[in-house]
This record gives sequence, C-alpha cells and structure tokens, in this order.
Amino acid sequence: MDVDPDPHVRLFCLPQNETETILASRLSAHGVTVDYGQRLDSIEETEDAVRSTINGSIHMASYVLGADGVRSAVRAHLGQELRGFDLQSKWSIADVDAPEWSEPGVFRVFLRDDGEAIFVIPIGPTRFRAVASVPDALAAMPVPIPVTRVHREGDFIIGIRQVGSYGRRRVWLAGDAAHTHSPVGGRGMNLGIEDAAEWAERLIGDRLERGIDEGYSVSRHVRGQEIIAFTERARRLVARRAGLGRSLALNALGTLGNMAPLNRAIARRMLLT
Ligand SMILES: Cc1cc2nc3c(=O)[nH]c(=O)nc-3n(C[C@H](O)[C@H](O)[C@H](O)COP(=O)(O)OP(=O)(O)OC[C@H]3O[C@@H](n4cnc5c(N)ncnc54)[C@H](O)[C@@H]3O)c2cc1C
Repeated sequence: MDVDPDPHVRLFCLPQNETETILASRLSAHGVTVDYGQRLDSIEETEDAVRSTINGSIHMASYVLGADGVRSAVRAHLGQELRGFDLQSKWSIADVDAPEWSEPGVFRVFLRDDGEAIFVIPIGPTRFRAVASVPDALAAMPVPIPVTRVHREGDFIIGIRQVGSYGRRRVWLAGDAAHTHSPVGGRGMNLGIEDAAEWAERLIGDRLERGIDEGYSVSRHVRGQEIIAFTERARRLVARRAGLGRSLALNALGTLGNMAPLNRAIARRMLLT
C-alpha cells in the first residue's frame, strides 16, 4: 500500500507463510539454513562464552540472541520479566480464502454501531485476514464473508508489556521475547526485525572487539516504548465508542486503495511512526 511519498515506505499485506519463505530464502542466499524443531533447554555463561544445551547437545557460542517469543527461555535465564498488563477484552483473527468476496484487494474497515471495529485485510488474491475488536472475527462481520477455507482463526488477549533490560554481556533479547503490544498498525514483527538488525549491526561494527554493550538495550528499549505508545494510541482510537476522529481515521484506512490526500495523511499517522 502506497501510504507515503517515500518509495521505501510501503505497507505490504501477505500471509505469514510467505513472509517466512521470503526470510528463509534471504538467509539461504547468505548460506544460512533454519533448523526447525530445536529446543533450547538451558544456558550457562562463562567468562568468554555461552554454553547452551539444545536438544540435549551442548553448543558453545560467543553470544546468544534470544528471539524465542513471549515465553522466552532466554529471558527467564536473564531473570527479566515482561512487565506491563493485559487488556480485558478479547480480540480475534481469521485468515480465510474467499474467492467470491465482493471487494478483493480492498482494505475494508467496518464500524459497528456498538463501537466495535472489524478490519478485512487482503493478504493474497483471494485470501483475507479478518481482525475484530471482539471475539470470533467471522461471526462479528456485519456482512457475511463467503469463506471456502479457514487457514487459522482464534481469539487473543493483548498484553502491553516490555522487559526492563534487553540483556547483558553475552546474552541478549529481541522480538516478542522483549516486548508485546496490540497488533493494530502491524508493527510487532517489524519491531523484532529492527531489534535483530541493530544487534547485528553493533556486533559487526566497531564494537566487535568488545562485544555488544548496554547501548543496545537502551536504544531498543526507547524504540520499543515508542512503538508501544503508538500502537496503544491506534488501538484506543479503534476501541473508542464513537466520534468523528474515529470514523475519519478508520475510514481513511478503508480507502487506502484510492486515497485522497487527507485520507493519506490520516492513514500515514495511523500506520507509520
Ligand atoms: C493476531 C496478530 C496479528 C499480528 N499481525 C502483525 C502484523 O501485521 N505485522 C507485524 O509486524 N506483526 C504482527 N504481529 C506480531 C508478530 O506476529 C510478532 O511480533 C512476531 O511473530 C514475533 O516474532 P518473534 O520471532 O519475536 O517471536 P515468535 O513469532 O513467537 O517466535 C518465537 C519462536 O521461538 C520458538 N521457541 C520458543 N521457546 C523456544 C525454546 N526454548 N527453544 C527453541 N525455540 C523456542 C517458538 O517455537 C517460535 O518459533 C501480529 C500478532 C498477532 C497476535
């Protein structure tokens, strides 16, 4: 989606399996393969290395970057907690095929009279993601969507949380292991990739001699706070019961395909920071 005059600032909607295929093929081009089904059981830090037990085998490394999600074993090793709170209400998601849906390629927002919102996001030629601020996204649709296949669906609780520190010495955190927030604005995975990119940049940069330092934690904590604040503003706007601002902003998202300048400006504020 073209939300910004800068050609590098775009919003791409695609299914998770395609994102994973793209990332895996980039890794492969750099000679790296992904080992699935590996379980980290424990970590021990020595003066000059990290000793990890993975599937019962010992692996020695200079550094560990734990990108092992909200229940992170690496975070537990660091003694860090995801501090924050969970939202009371349940949200829901459904990824479906619907070749007969009347609006292929259109990012649609439905504002219900009771103040709830349902988004229909195209993620393929005939595939859509429905996200709702209430349980059961498909049942919540005000217009029935003619589904031929459900790829995944479920309700989820949103946690607004972050660690106090992203690591120390040889063991560090990135991604959902370090932060969680609302999916409004689609920023979680992107924030995690930013964490990992900065970590790698620091590792291969002029700090290689002395390793990653506290600067990584400070910098990523600030960036995480920014994104958490932004996604919370966007979520509150979606969850607001009524008001012109809510209608303008959400309808601007719904007309991304044929955007007038005002809509573009509103959508830009909603989606980018
Ligand atoms: C409904 C919903 C919609 C979203 N939409 C978007 C979006 O549009 N855009 C966006 O940018 N983000 C989005 N997100 C957020 C995004 O999905 C997450 O931020 C992202 O997946 C986090 O990636 P991660 O690698 O840090 O963690 P995860 O995806 O949780 O991956 C962690 C991995 O570590 C593995 N693991 C855990 N423990 C161990 C262990 N002990 N040993 C070995 N492996 C282990 C897990 O099996 C898993 O594979 C959405 C999230 C939700 C819930």
